[in-house]
Amino acid sequence: MSKLMVSVSGVRGIYGDSLTPEIAMKYAAHFGIFSKRGKIIVGRDSRVTGPAMFNAVTAGLMSVGCDVVDLGIVSTPTVLLAVEESDASGGISITASHNPAEWNAMKFVGANGMFLFPENADTFINSLDKPVDYVGWDRIGKLSFDPDGSKRHIEKVLQIPYLDIDKIRTRKFKVVLDCVNGAGGMIAPQLLRDLGCEVIELNCEPTGIFTHIPEPLNKNLGDLENAVAAHKADLGFATDPDVDRLSVVDETGKCIGEEFSLLLSEKFILSKTKGDIVTNLSSSMASEDIAAEFGVKVHRTKVGEINVGKKMKEINSPVGGEGNGGIICPEVHYTRDAPAGMALILGYLAERNEPISKLAAEIPHYYFAKNKIKVDPAKLDGIMAKVPEIFADYKLDTTDGIKILGDKFWIHIRKSGTEPIIRVYVESETAEKSEQICEETIEKLV
Ligand code: MG
Repeated sequence: MSKLMVSVSGVRGIYGDSLTPEIAMKYAAHFGIFSKRGKIIVGRDSRVTGPAMFNAVTAGLMSVGCDVVDLGIVSTPTVLLAVEESDASGGISITASHNPAEWNAMKFVGANGMFLFPENADTFINSLDKPVDYVGWDRIGKLSFDPDGSKRHIEKVLQIPYLDIDKIRTRKFKVVLDCVNGAGGMIAPQLLRDLGCEVIELNCEPTGIFTHIPEPLNKNLGDLENAVAAHKADLGFATDPDVDRLSVVDETGKCIGEEFSLLLSEKFILSKTKGDIVTNLSSSMASEDIAAEFGVKVHRTKVGEINVGKKMKEINSPVGGEGNGGIICPEVHYTRDAPAGMALILGYLAERNEPISKLAAEIPHYYFAKNKIKVDPAKLDGIMAKVPEIFADYKLDTTDGIKILGDKFWIHIRKSGTEPIIRVYVESETAEKSEQICEETIEKLV
């Protein structure tokens, strides 16, 4: 049997195996009690197990007295925005994000429209051992349907003050869009049409039948690359199934990589307004180059979008996110939002009147190497304890695991939150150097 993954970002498993309807109902009931039995907004991505999950989640919530508002198939940022803009006590996004079709999961949203802060997530997780206190028939929750979540989300994106909507519309961009048959089809084609684009849809039916590995990494986007070149499009956009990650293909039909979705957004927003960038410790150091260009700073947080969003709110940052294509534009909300990212990148393109490959080439390119070591769980902490000794000559950042800061390179060594593995990330000026540092680091650790 597969393992149910429980972490601050939610609970995830293979449906019918580690994640059963009983588990979904139990978690939802506890979340309802944790949310003081108030109104809960629920949305789901397009997975074929989504309706079964939705029914289990709704049964749990209503049975503890929560009213449930069903948004239907929507992006995760649509759920977050709906919670923020309503009087709801919380929300649940039923999605396993970039995981393959056999997975499903629940992401839990606080009343502020952000994922649960880590300390609150711990309180919630710790409450799961208690018996569920169901309500009687006279206090059972009500179910209603809200069909307009995506529409309101699009309106909010179009109101981003940095965008010159008329200028974008005049350009009539030709965009190939690959939503991997996830929830993206419910929002992205309409948003792009509202921005005057000619949209060529690839996998925009929200069937949950993923036609390629759904994580929007370069290696999974060959069809999109070919389609952009064949249609002579201005660019291609790809999203993961719950539409919080965005990847871009340039006009030559080449992926420019998820890191650049964030970097292009940073450049555009900083050209409009001044403020520090926030990103996580594992995202590209090109953010530091961009920050230097605009005379601002980069704040680095623990990995996990909630840490980035929280810090952005705290320091009033105008742009941030995660290098995995997760763009956070506070003018929409403090969570990763691929539709917002699309609008920002088109805004930048319209303004600069240059092909996207040129805009990407203006940003310094660094290269990642990523690897992981499977270790005996008993030895995990011992291995991590050796790291400061091994890298005694370097400056270390221990905000999240250990990050070794070198000259034009860094190494980030972290324990996984859910499995007995240690992840090693390296970034440097060349692919070869990064691979070599990554390999040498692993040799030193084991
Ligand atoms: Mg996702």
